Amino acid sequence: MSTLFVISGPSGAGKSVLIRRILDDLPAIRFSVSSTTRGPRPGETDGVNYHFISREQFQTDVESGRFLEYAQFSGNMYGTNRHEFEEAQNLGQDLLLDIEVQGARQLQEKGIEAVYIFVTPPSFAELERRLRSRGTEDEVAIHRRLRQAVEDVSHVDRYQFVIVNDNLEEAYSRLRSIFIAERSRRPRMEAALEPILASFQK
Ligand code: ADP
Ligand code: 5GP
Repeated sequence: MSTLFVISGPSGAGKSVLIRRILDDLPAIRFSVSSTTRGPRPGETDGVNYHFISREQFQTDVESGRFLEYAQFSGNMYGTNRHEFEEAQNLGQDLLLDIEVQGARQLQEKGIEAVYIFVTPPSFAELERRLRSRGTEDEVAIHRRLRQAVEDVSHVDRYQFVIVNDNLEEAYSRLRSIFIAERSRRPRMEAALEPILASFQK
């Protein structure tokens, strides 16, 4: 069985930090590496954080149906590679998607079952502070992302879970709890249950 986890939230809310932690902490979660037309930030690796591709390549990939969903965000294109989704399903792996709200909506409209999680900062002012302190965008891009954030938070009601990322430890603990709870659902426990139930047969 494979569960799809979709994480959205304004840029600078702390999604990447939380995702890095969960991938390090819990076993057997596959991160869906998206394609994007934005350039790599310092420390980002092609094929690990994203597939960094040209606009022309992105357009070709759209036309060939390579993306499960895609959207424009803050002047760049981002898309989920269909093969990530199909491979995770075929191998029975849990898959984690870090995508913005329009992309999450496309999945919901396709009837794709997932655990939809929204990460929010404790306030707009704190979001602004985090985006600036991250230092990965220039002033124009920061403003663009902050404007986008106003739109992003207006779609929070499409999500099943909300994590307020104020204190990082607290936020991480909640995210971890969601993963553990989803993995404890009875259908997911069947393989573990089988020998236990057998041991009760006299
Ligand atoms: P996102 O992936 O949502 O755009 P990041 O994970 O890159 O956001 O986080 C944005 C910035 O905020 C980073 O510099 C990160 O270290 C910082 N940050 C994340 N969570 C917290 C937190 N709980 N408190 C303070 N700073 C945080
Ligand atoms: P960033 O440039 O900060 O890495 O990402 C900007 C936004 O794009 C984030 O909200 C992130 O969740 C979103 N994003 C990343 N990959 C995808 C994707 O494949 N599809 C969609 N729709 N959004 C994505």
